[in-house]
Amino acid sequence: MEPTLPELSVLRRFWPGFEDAGTTHPVLVGGIAIGGALPVIIAGPCAVESYEQTLAVACAVRGAGIGILRGGAFKPRTYPGSFQGLGEEGLEILAQVGRETGLAIVTEVLDPRLVERVAAVADMLQIGSRSMQNTPLLIEAGRSGKPVLLKRGWSATLDEWLGAAEYVAREGNTRIVLCERGIRVPASEGYARAVLDLNVIHAIRTLTPLPVLVDPSHAAGQWERVEPLARAALAASAHGLLIEAVAADTDRAALRSDAEQGIPPDVLERIAGYARPGLPRNSQ
Ligand code: PEP
Ligand code: MN
Repeated sequence: MEPTLPELSVLRRFWPGFEDAGTTHPVLVGGIAIGGALPVIIAGPCAVESYEQTLAVACAVRGAGIGILRGGAFKPRTYPGSFQGLGEEGLEILAQVGRETGLAIVTEVLDPRLVERVAAVADMLQIGSRSMQNTPLLIEAGRSGKPVLLKRGWSATLDEWLGAAEYVAREGNTRIVLCERGIRVPASEGYARAVLDLNVIHAIRTLTPLPVLVDPSHAAGQWERVEPLARAALAASAHGLLIEAVAADTDRAALRSDAEQGIPPDVLERIAGYARPGLPRNSQ
């Protein structure tokens, strides 16, 4: 694989000080080091749907000992008739919930023209699977200087994913965290939404010092299937997890985005426990 890659500065071979496969380039988000000694969990609703819903999930996130909240104000949806997120109102809700709970905020930016506005609220910019090769967006995110969570396009090769990271890095921003979220295969026969590529974690850790998270939620598509994938990702040495969560007693039928895959607070707490000190982890 390596000989096909051009001279990307995000590769260990071209990144002075990180040539050794045991080293990671940690990315600080709200004072929390992604790529540090312990796995980091980022959790929250798929979409910010209201202040009350966001605060309730944020309290569950904080209650599980997690320090970073995710939630979409701008949602990339397959159909234009679907809920597209609350937009600006969603950003304001995130800012308020962030202030009230002390949680750091991760939220997606879809449009290069909105990077500055989203970066004013977010501690980390999420670039979604559909946007992975939107080069103007990658460049603007790079220019913002904010940490960037770069999800893998669901049909992207590892080379293409690292090439996308390079667009951010070439703007002088190496605060990049990669996130595997499942890839498309011809048939998953109803048991998965996408197939989680756990093999890629070792490949990434070999090739680049950028930390890598795993999002089990968008691969699972159903909340009951999230926990085993989360455990597998940690066992495979991911630097952490990005997970969709709901508050206790959520009426899923009323949710407007990814209603089936958010895990309830008890499962979130259990998963957070897997990431605490004392558990055996591989360094590679
Ligand atoms: C999300 O994180 O809610 C999301 C839309 O994910 P992806 O870009 O991986 O589909
Ligand atoms: Mn989602």
